[in-house]
Amino acid sequence: MTAQNAFSPIAGTAEFTADGETVLACQLLVLGAGPGGYSAAFRASDLGIATVLVDQRPTLGGVCLNVGCIPSKALLHTMAVVDAANALSAQGIAFGAPQIDATKLAAHKDAVVKKLTDGLAAMAKARKVRVIQGTGRFRDPHHLEVAAADGDAPKIVRFESAIIAAGSEAATLPFVPSDPRIVDSTGALELRAVPKKMLVLGGGIIGLEMATVYSVLGARVDVVEMLDGLMPGADRDLVAVWQKMNASRFDRIMLKTKAVAIDAKLDGIHVEFAGEAAPEQPQRYDLILVAVGRQPNGKRIAAEKAGVDISDKGFIAVDRQMRTNAHHIYAIGDIVGEPMLAHKAVHQGHVAAENAAGGKSFFDARQIPSVAYTDPEIAWTGLTEQDAKARNVAFKKAVFPWVASGRALANGRAEGLTKLLFDPETHRLLGGAIVGTHAGDLIAEICLGLELGADATDIGRTILPHPTLSETIGMSAEAFEGVCTDLLPASR
Ligand code: FAD
Repeated sequence: MTAQNAFSPIAGTAEFTADGETVLACQLLVLGAGPGGYSAAFRASDLGIATVLVDQRPTLGGVCLNVGCIPSKALLHTMAVVDAANALSAQGIAFGAPQIDATKLAAHKDAVVKKLTDGLAAMAKARKVRVIQGTGRFRDPHHLEVAAADGDAPKIVRFESAIIAAGSEAATLPFVPSDPRIVDSTGALELRAVPKKMLVLGGGIIGLEMATVYSVLGARVDVVEMLDGLMPGADRDLVAVWQKMNASRFDRIMLKTKAVAIDAKLDGIHVEFAGEAAPEQPQRYDLILVAVGRQPNGKRIAAEKAGVDISDKGFIAVDRQMRTNAHHIYAIGDIVGEPMLAHKAVHQGHVAAENAAGGKSFFDARQIPSVAYTDPEIAWTGLTEQDAKARNVAFKKAVFPWVASGRALANGRAEGLTKLLFDPETHRLLGGAIVGTHAGDLIAEICLGLELGADATDIGRTILPHPTLSETIGMSAEAFEGVCTDLLPASR
């Protein structure tokens, strides 16, 4: 490409015309404005790097803010309040059946999303990050072509270095027909209608969170999962607590079972199952949520033209500095692999931005927490018991049942448990998990303990406020050391 305006070296973003094309030159291109991408762009800009941020969506925030973490939590919070209000009848306070206006509820969720995405746009502007809306594909190792959604001529971004943060999309199944009554998580979050009967295909976190929302709204929900348990990754003792609490919420939880044929008919979607819990007859549903995982967007960006290797599945391999095989191109977030979580993407984004700015940062997290914002919530981080057993890692565990927590009893939610895993020799914390209300917030103390290399005494001797659920973490550590006075004495 021959430039009409000489522009080298690149000192900031600048727009000019070359070979009849509009070229935007910058130091750093960030492709994808999800949690990873916008965090990387903002960090780079704060470090004085002229940054262009490209995303095909009209708003910043990627999957997480627009159609993932935030809208799902807005709905889950509302549903948790409805559930809590219903449960109060056991304590002598009855409200009657809730009147649910799904349109108003969807508007509330959209307003929450808008507040956050508007906030991001303002922050991009304040930082002078240049945002371009359009679909980007690499043209060569230093140019990205951005096709505008409105059919305008494409823009070319010329960059010195780049961060690929193009994220992931919902995985599909080949035999699932195209029908408006069959949706992925984005479709389910739209809350177009509350179905009478719903099938959730896939018993992972996203599927079960949406199943929770729709069941509180009044749908009768079946869940089908081909593995032998729900929420892969979480220890079974935690999932068992969730399953007991939710036994009446769902009609069928079909484990070791697959949907094998789906037929969209006028009267509903007919599904045939095979496996251990398969009903003999096909079942009819008004809505099906396909939540069978997420696949990376690596194959959609012509990364090979930039010299970046993409795996068969669409992932990009990176080193601890988030660098791809092409030295000046980094990749972060869902596109570099599991766990596909927003907080992981953000931290990787900061590391990549700091390195693109000439620093020497590494992504060497000791732990990345996972949370299912179901009711009750399940949260875990560091080593899990099933991981430890699979990898033959020596550990000793301590469990504090919430039935011994004054606060959990006062809350009327004593079904939970807090579990900590320790190194049997050093008593150092290896991992932790919680099932119960607010587990997603409570896990933060265990995250910090792991990052700081805390041992059981550090955790047990930390004075925590009473009466709180957070005490269950300290008391688990005390139980491990045999000094807990809120449980029966350890056997002598
Ligand atoms: P993304 O958020 O996927 O963003 C990538 C962006 O790149 C997108 O906006 C996409 O439009 C854009 N893009 C892709 N290709 C191109 C291209 N060629 N040109 C231009 N733009 C492009 N995670 C949590 O941690 N907590 C949760 O509670 C949680 N809940 C979730 C609930 C749901 C329903 C879903 C679907 C996901 C949830 N996640 C949650 C996962 C979380 O959303 C992702 O891990 C996170 O968004 C990944 O961030 P990212 O920056 O890697 O990419």
